[in-house]
Amino acid sequence: MMDPEYAPEYAIVVPTVGRPGLAELLRPVLEAPEESAPSDVVVVDDRPEDEATGPLPGIDDPRVRTLRTGGRGPATARQAGWQSCTAPWIVFLDDDVRPPWDWAHRLRGDLRSVPRGVAGTQGRIVVPRPEGRRPTDSERNTIALERARWITADLALRRSALERVGGFDTRFRRAYREDTDLALRLEDAGFRLRQGARVCVHPLAEGRPRASLSAQRGNADDVLMRHLHGTRWRERVEEPRGTLRSHLITTALPLAALAATVKGHPRLAAAAGALWAARTVGFAARRIVAGPARFDEWVDMALTSVAIPPLAVWYRGVGELRYARAHRRPSVRAVLFDRDGTLVEDVPYNGDPDRVVPRPGAAEAVALAREHGLAVAVVTNQSGIGRKMITEEDVAAVNRRIDRLIGPVDLWSLCPHREEDGCSCRKPRPGMVVGAAWALGVAPAECAVVGDIGADVEAAAAAGARGILVPTPRTREEEVRGAPEVAEDPFAAVSRLVEGGRT
Ligand SMILES: [Mg+2]
Repeated sequence: MMDPEYAPEYAIVVPTVGRPGLAELLRPVLEAPEESAPSDVVVVDDRPEDEATGPLPGIDDPRVRTLRTGGRGPATARQAGWQSCTAPWIVFLDDDVRPPWDWAHRLRGDLRSVPRGVAGTQGRIVVPRPEGRRPTDSERNTIALERARWITADLALRRSALERVGGFDTRFRRAYREDTDLALRLEDAGFRLRQGARVCVHPLAEGRPRASLSAQRGNADDVLMRHLHGTRWRERVEEPRGTLRSHLITTALPLAALAATVKGHPRLAAAAGALWAARTVGFAARRIVAGPARFDEWVDMALTSVAIPPLAVWYRGVGELRYARAHRRPSVRAVLFDRDGTLVEDVPYNGDPDRVVPRPGAAEAVALAREHGLAVAVVTNQSGIGRKMITEEDVAAVNRRIDRLIGPVDLWSLCPHREEDGCSCRKPRPGMVVGAAWALGVAPAECAVVGDIGADVEAAAAAGARGILVPTPRTREEEVRGAPEVAEDPFAAVSRLVEGGRT
């Protein structure tokens, strides 16, 4: 039964570019009754350094913390925001939404009903329609938010899930694809997201003039999406295919007309020109028909319809150049391998270097990790030392042989104790994992432990690291069932870490 008093602890993170109405946004949050109030409210001021002259208007509540990210975009701002919080839930709100008065109460209900394995819950976005007319082009873009999945306008995420995937990818500088990218990486890590019951209002803002032109920059972000998630990412987020192909044809036609003129084919040139005109008129007509019957909107649609196709193609090219070598960043910075049964065949209490036999995929796993700049450590229980069956020197000799065969390894970490010694380092306890992370200069959350038994992945979980089980025939079936992640061998485990994808 759910405890009726249970109130999940959450922090609110609002990146802002200084839009007015921030105080209004925060009011339902700050005035919420104690049982549904956030433990932390962070406003991330992302105005460019030269614009951010004074404090943010309307933010003088002592419960609100302010961070500055100096105009590096919403992904960076959200990243700085959540990483400064300790609450187990992080709720992202955009600075242009208006939570209704009961929002915090409904959020609490949403958080309480999220099952394990679900990384987060999305608020429903409602966009009030303009009265007595059809929405303009820029208003239609805002209305489309109602159907978008996993947008950060109102998104609550588990801190542990954000840590698992490394949070936002700060290469996304615009408010466009950074949330879709995060959602796909969460899905890749095995998390699900669900729709909450709470509602957030997104008012129709006054569209900036020619917003449809600057929106074409998004074509560059789409290139990054393709590099990170493959060519089928639109299908995964149930988005219709992009319009770039059509823009490419429209853009090519005037060039073809020019080429035909130069080559002395006037009829061909006229045909290409006519086709361009027809396509442009068709494009403009589709946008005009959907909007309000207003002269200024017609003019705007006609002019931007000429400019959009070449701009879209241009930014696509910009993206192809800028992200030509982009690939997914590993969310881990270090791999901690178990030794016996993972990197080498398990020879109980082995003190003899000649009996070292690498396991399949072990050398390749270490090489792949190093290739991607990950630190590599070995964390191994060697209770044979505590039992006086082997000496530390024996173990060191074996480790040197392993290092030669499959290394180099950055750090060897061993626990010499017996179970009954009650130490904090022996796996499944977290001591060795935390200590290795510290020695490598990374956070435990940035480490993955790869091992062949339950104690390995349990130690990982206890330390806040990611655990991947690589079972051998001797691994118990319930350990396989209980493991958060399972890979075929160490190489498959590291592949998953560096690609971030499903294996
Ligand atoms: Mg083992």
